[in-house]
Amino acid sequence: MAAPSDDLRRLLISRYRYGPDMVDIAWRAHFQCEYCDKDLLGSVDAYEWHWEREHVVPTVRGGDDALHNWALACRTCNQFKGAWDPRSDATSPTDRDALVASARAYIQRRRAERGSELDVVRGLILAELDR
Ligand SMILES: [Zn+2]
Repeated sequence: MAAPSDDLRRLLISRYRYGPDMVDIAWRAHFQCEYCDKDLLGSVDAYEWHWEREHVVPTVRGGDDALHNWALACRTCNQFKGAWDPRSDATSPTDRDALVASARAYIQRRRAERGSELDVVRGLILAELDR
């Protein structure tokens, strides 16, 4: 994959508040959440508010600030992942793709759990609203 042009890099940094490393993180991820594939260029809301960089291996678990340990994530996925360490489930504790795949699966499980909880509480709320 070719790197962004110098003109685009300068534009992203000067006009769109990217740090130099953020350009590389977002570029590598094709501006999609690495955990759910959300297109972070797909809407003003997504672009303005819903993406972040996050540590694949959390710093509290020994992860570093090197480019390979950063992932582009939507805010929701970053919240679901939290400080969970993908090395606990990954097929390789050092391969970035394996770590991202592990985190992706973990986030999908958490999202499904929360979806089930939402179904329950939605039912309770709607039942009371209908009284
Ligand atoms: Zn996401």
